[in-house]
Amino acid sequence: MQQTEISSVGEFGLIDRITRDLPKYNESTIKSIGDDAAVLNYPETEVLVSSDMLLEGVHFDLTYMPLKHLGYKAAVVNFSDIYAMNGTPRQITVSLGISARFTVEHIEALYSGIRLACEIYGVDLVGGDTTASRSGLVISITCIGDAGKGASVGRDGAKDTDLICVSGDLGAAYMGLQLLEREKTASAGQKDFTPKFEGKEYLVERQLKPEARRDIVAALKSEGITPTSMIDISDGLSSELLHICKASKTGCRIYEDRIPIDYQTAVMAEELGMNLVTAALNGGEDYELLFTVPLHNHEAMQKMDGVKVIGHITRPDLGCAMITRDGAEIELKAQGFNHMA
Ligand code: ADP
Ligand code: MG
Repeated sequence: MQQTEISSVGEFGLIDRITRDLPKYNESTIKSIGDDAAVLNYPETEVLVSSDMLLEGVHFDLTYMPLKHLGYKAAVVNFSDIYAMNGTPRQITVSLGISARFTVEHIEALYSGIRLACEIYGVDLVGGDTTASRSGLVISITCIGDAGKGASVGRDGAKDTDLICVSGDLGAAYMGLQLLEREKTASAGQKDFTPKFEGKEYLVERQLKPEARRDIVAALKSEGITPTSMIDISDGLSSELLHICKASKTGCRIYEDRIPIDYQTAVMAEELGMNLVTAALNGGEDYELLFTVPLHNHEAMQKMDGVKVIGHITRPDLGCAMITRDGAEIELKAQGFNHMA
């Protein structure tokens, strides 16, 4: 494909190309790109704001991450934070640091992913900033959303005896990353290298094209259930559950045999000689929702598609632990876990 130097179109030329013909999905977007600031109108509601910054070489590796996927993922992980507050994402701003090796076409590819995510989730791209970077690509996205008045759900509302629930399955994105890293190492210095992903497509997809669980937020709403606490799983189940328990001043018990794990994740862990439960507890980037609901919702939660009850909240003095398949109690740690004395 023909490549256009960014210097030949200039900063404004680039902004024009990547923001051309943007659709508008939300009433709350009054004024979008083209002025000194976007104008939003949010009467009578709680407004949610969340930011994420991604640095090349720290958070992503362009050797196996196509730019379109990177744009999609950068947007979706921000939407996930808004859903995790029981809200709806409405607008994003995208700020870029671009180093000299990127062309107009590269940035357009990145934006095709951002635009696709915005289309699928109904979010408006309303602004951003564009600057030169000395080392690699930097993407910072801020997402704005809403929940009804008093309807946002934080990490701090879990209560003793609440059920702990998780959506989807865990550890697959981490195993996808291990697989991509393995194939990258194997490809080093080789021409015409074909990576081996057969039978492991799900893992690659979970790493390269994650989705935010708006369906779960909608399902809870339609059942009339408001979680007492909620968080999205970006750093691993263990770490997120500890965040909820710390903020809510509670303890918890989860059960090893209830942690949802996909077959491909299990196969990959075995191939790599890794402990599967460790991967599911500590592997990051699943972007599933972890939430607590009052005990009387047990039946509704068991019936809900794509959700599993994995344990319950306890008094704080009982600590945070996982009950293993053979009945042992293991203290949960943010990274790794230790046998309880
Ligand atoms: P300012 O000089 O006020 O910072 P800019 O020239 O940086 O304005 O941006 C012009 C317009 O383009 C603004 O509306 C801004 O929000 C938008 N914009 C700039 N960079 C981006 C980007 N990377 N993605 C989306 N919109 C952008
Ligand atoms: Mg600017």
